[in-house]
Amino acid sequence: MQGITILGATGSIGVSTLDVLARHPERYSVHALTAHSRVDELAAQCEQFRPAVAVVGTADAAQRLSRILKQKGLHTQVEYGEAALCAVAGAPECDVVMAAIVGAAGLMPTLAAARAGKKLLLANKEALVMSGQLFIDAVNINGATLLPIDSEHNAIFQCLPHDYRRVPHQHGIARILLTASGGPFLTRAVETLDTVTPEEAVAHPNWVMGRKISVDSATMMNKGLEVIEAHWLFGAPASQIDVVIHPQSVIHSMVSYVDGSVLAQLGNPDMRTPIAHALAYPERIVSGVEPLDLARLATLDFAAPDFDRFPCLKLAYEALRAGGTAPAVLNAANEIAVQAFLDRRIGFRMIDQVIARVLGKVQIQSSVSCVDSLLEQDRLARLEAYALID
Ligand code: NAD
Ligand code: MG
Repeated sequence: MQGITILGATGSIGVSTLDVLARHPERYSVHALTAHSRVDELAAQCEQFRPAVAVVGTADAAQRLSRILKQKGLHTQVEYGEAALCAVAGAPECDVVMAAIVGAAGLMPTLAAARAGKKLLLANKEALVMSGQLFIDAVNINGATLLPIDSEHNAIFQCLPHDYRRVPHQHGIARILLTASGGPFLTRAVETLDTVTPEEAVAHPNWVMGRKISVDSATMMNKGLEVIEAHWLFGAPASQIDVVIHPQSVIHSMVSYVDGSVLAQLGNPDMRTPIAHALAYPERIVSGVEPLDLARLATLDFAAPDFDRFPCLKLAYEALRAGGTAPAVLNAANEIAVQAFLDRRIGFRMIDQVIARVLGKVQIQSSVSCVDSLLEQDRLARLEAYALID
């Protein structure tokens, strides 16, 4: 029996994770579930999965949750705040941590899981994009096992040799090919992108996801963050990581070898596949995902990405090449710009402009020395982004 903590249990990835866990009650028990503000959803999850601990964002939310759980006769201990998130991520009762909080808010608890040497299932790509080498060092020094949940990175992981050591050329790897659906605006006339609404931007053609990552998919900043994520996970330089547009999202990514072989992982676009893969690794378990019907699919399409249509993808490559704290600044500016777009304070085409200007304004540090200096860069970038938007 393995104990599991889910950071971000009420989100899209959290709910899919619980769906997989519910199919395997003999293998997994839930140690802790966390949510920011959706108290009613979290209470319902507590009733079904009986965690020892539940964590929310504020004292007020904790009070409301305690009241509901008491009415239901449940004995789940209720906590709140970042220290409590870090505690459940590093608790001795927990073997596996699903890191599925969205954005920089997930950095400290995800790092806590790495520092406690857990089996760490990483959905929260922003945490790795921000902290890069610091994060990889925390994993290695403390003997944590890092498994990617992002479908592309999970696919790449599956296409790599078992003894992969984060040095592509030692294994005959030529290129890493990240596939991208292109999002809802792949073919929309570029001059009309200024007027798209948040509702149109979050309507992803293939995946149902949280609002932030859905906007990131529409700008392709999501793919940009994934290029940086792939760099840290697999040790490949920016020049060895390509993005390929593949609108059907059936090939989840590929690895190209020097002998001409290209290995791909395919499946229906459903996050329960990478979640089940990482949960059971190196075994395989049922996920609830429909089998792929290739004959019904009939065609798979591919194209090169258009950097003029998707300037955020270019900005992310530039931030990776710049190194140091540039990816953290990119990420922070993006989080603020995306929220401003969702709040209808800026237009869709302003997102990349805000990020580019913040990257030009904040003094980038050439290396990430400690978490505190990283958080300070994150704070400065957010202030610049707010000022520009105002
Ligand atoms: P979501 O918005 O659906 O859920 C986010 C979760 O984080 C919720 O449980 C919420 O309560 C929690 N949360 C939000 N703000 C918080 C805060 N300040 N403090 C603590 N908790 C907070 O998002 P999602 O789509 O599930 O994505 C989660 C992460 O997984 C993101 O980093 C995303 O990039 C990544 N991811 C998601 C998908 C997907 O299909 N949804 C695919 C790949 C990667
Ligand atoms: Mg992805």
